[in-house]
Amino acid sequence: MRRGLRSDPLSDTYERYALGLIRGPRRSERGPGRKRSPAGRRPSPPASLLARLEALSVKGWPERATLYTRSLPPGCVHCLDGRGSSISLTTLCNRDCFFCFNPRPRADVVSVHGRDVRSHAQAGRLLESLGVRSAGISGGEPLLFPARTLGLVKELRRRLPKLWIDVYTNGDLLTPRLLARLKAAGVDSLRLNLAANGYDPRPVRGALAVFPDLAVEMPVVPSDQGRLSALMGRLDGLGVRHLILHELFCSGHNAGLLRKAGCRTRARPRAFLTWSGVAASEASALRLVAEALEKKLRLSVYYCSTGTQQWIARKAWQT
Ligand code: SF4
Repeated sequence: MRRGLRSDPLSDTYERYALGLIRGPRRSERGPGRKRSPAGRRPSPPASLLARLEALSVKGWPERATLYTRSLPPGCVHCLDGRGSSISLTTLCNRDCFFCFNPRPRADVVSVHGRDVRSHAQAGRLLESLGVRSAGISGGEPLLFPARTLGLVKELRRRLPKLWIDVYTNGDLLTPRLLARLKAAGVDSLRLNLAANGYDPRPVRGALAVFPDLAVEMPVVPSDQGRLSALMGRLDGLGVRHLILHELFCSGHNAGLLRKAGCRTRARPRAFLTWSGVAASEASALRLVAEALEKKLRLSVYYCSTGTQQWIARKAWQT
């Protein structure tokens, strides 16, 4: 089924996880003389930082610099197993984060695993055919369209009762009523991007009462390491179980804004991906992981690197 899927046209509005999985050429399809650009290589984190993490008994995959302190969120477990997918409900958003790598101009198009779809049923059929165990409904901001989000969740729940469903949101539009409706429709958990609101944890409070297993998931802007450190402590105090940090991504859509913000970007993405990591983001993220271990936070902090994104992409491509 996956083999047939590769011949379907790709959505050109979706350049996040799932599209990155599919777009890369096979090794055998690359030109004979093509070599990886040195600029595309991911610099290793400092050896002293890795040694500090090892001494703190960090968990994970040091060879890909993907590490965590306590446990992984369920949706990530399936993703790391090559059984995760993403749905972009829209690329419209009520925010305009400088680091956002969604295509501009934004478009109100639904795509599943990098393919445009026209109905909830089509989305469900596609995920069913992929045999995935988890799916993240993201955007843009999916909660700009609550009826669409709820309708899709209900369809997925009907068709794939065991699918783990996360909804990604910046949290601005969450209300007690919407939280209850999301839960009733069959959403398992939320992923809150608090980088969008300047690291304000307020959306977490109400959401935790309905989704106790929610995760906060954000890119690490290197210059914001201090603010992220303060937020980690506040999330721990609130009883949040998971904080997911990822390397700040640079794509063709945010490269200019990232440069203006002082982020040094690499010239080319890694093979299989349509983005690359921003220099210094990884080291900042790993310092936060080390800090969480040193402070013995109950909050589990997980850093997912572009190295792991690449690994997942290759795995999905070769399956
Ligand atoms: S909230 Fe998310 S989707 Fe919206 S602009 Fe920011 S990063 Fe992009």
